[in-house]
Amino acid sequence: MNYAADICEIGRRMYQRELVASNDGNISIRIDKNKVLITPTLTSKGFMKEEDIIMIDLDGNVIKGSKKPSSEYLLHTTVYKMRDDVNAVVHAHPVTVSAFAITGRAVDMSYMPEAFMSLGLFPVAKYARPGTEALAKSIEPFVKICNGCLLANHGAVSWAKDVYSAYYLMEQLEFYCKTSILAERIGTPNIIPVI
Ligand SMILES: [Zn+2]
Repeated sequence: MNYAADICEIGRRMYQRELVASNDGNISIRIDKNKVLITPTLTSKGFMKEEDIIMIDLDGNVIKGSKKPSSEYLLHTTVYKMRDDVNAVVHAHPVTVSAFAITGRAVDMSYMPEAFMSLGLFPVAKYARPGTEALAKSIEPFVKICNGCLLANHGAVSWAKDVYSAYYLMEQLEFYCKTSILAERIGTPNIIPVI
């Protein structure tokens, strides 16, 4: 397993699909109980090399790597500390998802079966400044019961057993938000039962 290569690959996909712009977003993989590989700060996710990836412990101390870890590492370690079954976290600013987050609109999962079957609930965590302990705290109510959440006026975060699954949640969330907006623009969406 080359986890650093996986992180670089996911970074490229996120950048190409406009889930992040410029140096935005961050990706991590837990490689054992107290060791996490995470993207560096101030680096475009579309152009990372394996040697850019940092190893930290769950307190954010750097174990390996020459760059500084993402300023959002607390968002990642908060999830790992609360969920033993989660080994990857993805944070992004997808265009449509971020528009939902800016308006504080929760994503209505009753438009398409894939939404509630794969995504589950993605509530909006209350606003806190990026890179702060308060932002990490804002997601705590959702970590145990959701696969991710929106971050008010900011973007979204998703978590899963591996990094591809966490990435797919983010990709699917953006697809679903985009489709919802289009459906509302061309008519009145028909609602389907979510159970
Ligand atoms: Zn962000």
